[in-house]
Amino acid sequence: MDLSFDKSKCDCYRSNAQKIRVISEEWIEKNIYCPVCGYSQLINLPNNMPVADLQCKSCGEIFELKSKCGNISRKIPDGAYSTMIERISSTSNPNLFIMGYDEKYSVKSLFIVPKFFFTTEIIEKRNPLSASAKRAGWVGCNILFDQIPVQGRISIIEDKVVRDKKNVVDDFARIKALKFDSIEKRSWLFDVMNCVNRIPFDCFSLSDVYKYEGFLKNKHPENNFVKPKIRQQLQVLRDKGFIEFLGNGKYIKLRG
Ligand SMILES: [Zn+2]
Repeated sequence: MDLSFDKSKCDCYRSNAQKIRVISEEWIEKNIYCPVCGYSQLINLPNNMPVADLQCKSCGEIFELKSKCGNISRKIPDGAYSTMIERISSTSNPNLFIMGYDEKYSVKSLFIVPKFFFTTEIIEKRNPLSASAKRAGWVGCNILFDQIPVQGRISIIEDKVVRDKKNVVDDFARIKALKFDSIEKRSWLFDVMNCVNRIPFDCFSLSDVYKYEGFLKNKHPENNFVKPKIRQQLQVLRDKGFIEFLGNGKYIKLRG
């Protein structure tokens, strides 16, 4: 796979942001398959589509691409906060490609975040633009990339190493078991999943997860039954094949 962008059209665009948008989308279109079904043709959608940049010609899934020069950081700036919050609860929310490229316009890393991994917790509200700004009062948002459970940050390219397509499609298929339309359900599930991911051992006990009770209570102050909620989410993770119950409050993490 040639990781370099095709720069031949670079001079046609006035702004650098516009140029990058076009050449990075073109690169995806030429080189990347649909991570949902594995079909090798993603097509570029017209620029006036409100949120989507690319669509799979086979399964119809839509994708948005965010790219930045350098490494993919903890926070990824995105558009208006209110639009984003509205969008993540809708079924038309796109899956998100996140790309990092180097100063020579060559792809360093690429991840796909399935659309059903978006929760309000990973959308951070930025401060309104100052009174002197052209769009004074406008409120943007950041996507908190590191708050997405690692299972929802599926790597396609890492440090210029391209992963096998089969592994990417298999990872996506496995994680689809966690697709819930309700934002509330997703939020609890991924919060508990993040806690389980943080436990440094594959074998763990219920008390290891209960150590995060305060952290979860902080995130869900309206809920006074955090421990039962933890047990309920562990059952979901068990039913979906991510952990196994060993009995006596012991669990084991299952790998794909
Ligand atoms: Zn597809």
